[in-house]
Amino acid sequence: MASGMAAELRERLREGNRREYGEGYGRLHFPVPAEAARAQERRRDLLEALAERVAFGCDGPKLDCTALAPGCRICAEGGWSCLFISGRCNCRCFYCPTSQEEIGVPATNTVEFRTPADYVAYLERFGFSGASISGGEPLLTPRRTLAFVSAVKRRFGAAMHLWLYTNGTLADAGALAQLRDAGLDEIRFDIGAVGYRLDGLRRAELDPDPIRQFGAEGIGLCRTEHMCFDEKRINVFREMIVSNTDADRLKALRQLKVGVV
Ligand code: SF4
Repeated sequence: MASGMAAELRERLREGNRREYGEGYGRLHFPVPAEAARAQERRRDLLEALAERVAFGCDGPKLDCTALAPGCRICAEGGWSCLFISGRCNCRCFYCPTSQEEIGVPATNTVEFRTPADYVAYLERFGFSGASISGGEPLLTPRRTLAFVSAVKRRFGAAMHLWLYTNGTLADAGALAQLRDAGLDEIRFDIGAVGYRLDGLRRAELDPDPIRQFGAEGIGLCRTEHMCFDEKRINVFREMIVSNTDADRLKALRQLKVGVV
C-alpha cells in the first residue's frame, strides 16, 4: 500500500516536471538510487575537504566565504516577494517554467497587480523587507518596470531592499541609469540565459556612468568573472554554473580554489 502511494506520488512529481520543463524534460538527468548514493558520498568528501575554507551561510545550504548580496540574505530568510513583471522574455532558457510569450499582468503566486500601488499595498500588508522584479525580461517592458520600482522605493525607501533579474540583453547605459534613478538597490544578470556570454555584465560594469552612479560597490558576478577570466579557469567556472548537483559544483569550486558561490 505504502509503496503504491510512493509510486503514485513519484508519478505525480514526474508529471509536474514534464509539464514544467516541456521539451527540455528529455534533457534532464535524474540519478538512479546507486548514482545518488555515490553523489552523496562524494558530496560529503568534498564538503569535508572544503570545511576549512568556506562558511556555510543561510542555515547550511549556501557556501560562501564572502558577504552574500543583501537580496540573497533576505531571500534565504524568507522575507521577500518576487514580482513577475510580465510573462514575456526574449530568451529561451530550457529551465524556464513558463512559455514567456504573453506580457500579461504583473503577478506573484497567482495574485495580480494591475497598478504599482496595488503591489505596494501587498508588500505593506505582508511586511516584506525585500522585493525582486523578475519576469519575463523586465527590460522588455521598461516603463512598467520603472513604474513599479519607483512606486516601491517612494513608499519604503531604504526599508525595502529592491533588486531586479535580467538576462542583460537590453541592459544599456540608459536603462541602467533609469533604474538607478528610480532607486533600484541590486541587479542580477542571468548569464545562463545568454549562453554564458558576459556582454550584458561588461556593458554594465565598464560604462562608468550608470554603474558608478548607482552607488554600487560592484557586481557580484563580475568579481567571479575576473577571478576566472583565464582561459582554463573560465571553462571550470562554466562547469560550476551548469552543474546539476552540489557535488559537481563543489568539484568545480575546488579546481578554481575558491569558496565563492
Ligand atoms: S531569461 Fe529568465 S525569463 Fe527569460 S527565458 Fe530565461 S529563465 Fe525565462
